[in-house]
Amino acid sequence: MKNVEKQQNNDCIFCKIIKGEIPCKKLYEDEQVLAFLDISGDYKDHTLVIPKRHCTNVLDASNCRLTACAKAISKISNEFIKKGYNGVNVFNNSGECAGQSVMHLHFHIIPRKNGDGYNINTNKN
Ligand code: 5GP
Ligand code: ZN
Repeated sequence: MKNVEKQQNNDCIFCKIIKGEIPCKKLYEDEQVLAFLDISGDYKDHTLVIPKRHCTNVLDASNCRLTACAKAISKISNEFIKKGYNGVNVFNNSGECAGQSVMHLHFHIIPRKNGDGYNINTNKN
């Protein structure tokens, strides 16, 4: 993406992932959005969808960025269904009090299978 440097925050780990300074397991990319596996490995194929231009969370994101993320979430989720999953949890934490630990807007996708027994806890506080 052109001028990518100007859209990043130097102290942000997700901006470093976008710039390639920190490696990630990339699942999807377009001009506005990047999706990669969550490092925690807590759930199989736990995916993070982020806008390439830095913003903090849904409270300061432009409609354009939110729309780009929503489209990517839909695409990626349907790919998981094609691969044999039965559904997805999609969630976002906005603000420390809501459990946000990385201050770059991101949506979690956790693909689900019938009877997987997951007990999803979206707030680690
Ligand atoms: P939050 O708690 O802010 O909603 O979610 C942040 C997520 O980012 C966590 O699930 C955490 O495992 C993930 N994460 C933190 N640092 C990294 C990293 O360097 N690489 C990747 N792939 N995921 C990260
Ligand atoms: Zn960032």
